[in-house]
Amino acid sequence: MLRLPQFGVALPSNVDAVVALLRDNPGARIVAGGTDILPNLKHRLDEPGMLISLAQVSELRSIAKLAHEGREVVEIGAGNTLTRVSEDPLVRELFPSLATAAGLVASPLIRNMGTLGGNVNLDTRCRYVNQTKFWREALGGGCLKSEGNVCFVVPGGRNCVAAMSSDCVPVLISLGAEIVLAGPEGQRVVPAAKYFKADGLRHTVRDDAELTTKLRVPVPTTPRRSAYAKWTVRKSIDFPLVSVALRFDLKSDSVDAPVTELVVVAGVLGAKPRVIAKLDDVIGKPLSDPALSRIVCAAVGKQCKPLENVPYEAPYRRRMFEVFTRRAIAELVAAG
Ligand SMILES: Cc1cc2nc3c(=O)[nH]c(=O)nc-3n(C[C@H](O)[C@H](O)[C@H](O)COP(=O)(O)OP(=O)(O)OC[C@H]3O[C@@H](n4cnc5c(N)ncnc54)[C@H](O)[C@@H]3O)c2cc1C
Ligand code: SF4
Repeated sequence: MLRLPQFGVALPSNVDAVVALLRDNPGARIVAGGTDILPNLKHRLDEPGMLISLAQVSELRSIAKLAHEGREVVEIGAGNTLTRVSEDPLVRELFPSLATAAGLVASPLIRNMGTLGGNVNLDTRCRYVNQTKFWREALGGGCLKSEGNVCFVVPGGRNCVAAMSSDCVPVLISLGAEIVLAGPEGQRVVPAAKYFKADGLRHTVRDDAELTTKLRVPVPTTPRRSAYAKWTVRKSIDFPLVSVALRFDLKSDSVDAPVTELVVVAGVLGAKPRVIAKLDDVIGKPLSDPALSRIVCAAVGKQCKPLENVPYEAPYRRRMFEVFTRRAIAELVAAG
């Protein structure tokens, strides 16, 4: 049985109190649903003196559509469970790919505990680090992200390339979401596309004294089709091994209408999600045009270079990025 290390627990009841606790207790960590941080503590990947629980911070649990700076947005509190996000009527209607991604995380029990804020701030994962300390010691003392000073994925590498493995993050980036943070200096807003860094040890721009309070997602202003594709070996429980979010804005409400804008984002590569570039040739083509699928899949296959940081061979996963992208587009077209 793996035991937790000893730590104190604080139970603040509002965001200001969370920020004050974070400021006054360097090294303290936030715990929301605990489905990521508690296993990591059991694996001795961190030993904080204090956990600051969000369990009583009810202001983090609203979902509301409102006007913000001249546009309509939906603000989703970071404390909402993934179950709620996946079932919320507003999210399902306006952001079906987000509802899909939230509903594909882990298992029903974990989605009942796990929150959207925890999913966005989920630690990076690697087959060499998400193991017991005993397991890591058997490798000779861990790696850059644990007790050691080597990388087993990139021998000789000085940079951790553990994988950003959140299901919701690629979707939030594809939807142009913003991440709202509260900290000692007040509130700041970071586009989801700029929230992540290519450093598996510290892969977000969030300061230790800040918490994510909400996700702000712009309401579509044109007809849209969006999808999230995930490959796992088992149908439940597993983290994604391939993860692609797609968003196509259309000139009119038909898959035969020209695409006016598109965003494709892949996860589970390195620490930073990859926004697929060079898709300009797709603009103006109908979503139902087979050439569109060929261009997008070729770009995904070329630009997604998986590493051996999670299970399954990298060349196979690379091929699967293309396959799952093609299937996702085919399903959107078939749905009309
Ligand atoms: C068996 C298993 C399978 C899993 N499968 C998946 C999967 O398929 N896909 C997937 O995406 N995830 C998966 N997870 C990971 C996890 O369950 C989810 O990512 C979940 O959304 C994490 O949310 P949480 O509230 O439990 O986070 P916590 O564990 O409470 O926190 C996670 C991290 O985020 C930080 N944090 C939490 N809330 C905030 C906030 N508001 N502001 C700033 N920082 C915050 C914490 O300090 C911690 O570092 C799995 C976990 C397990 C145990
Ligand atoms: S990518 Fe390298 S340094 Fe990072 S967790 Fe994996 S083995 Fe360790």
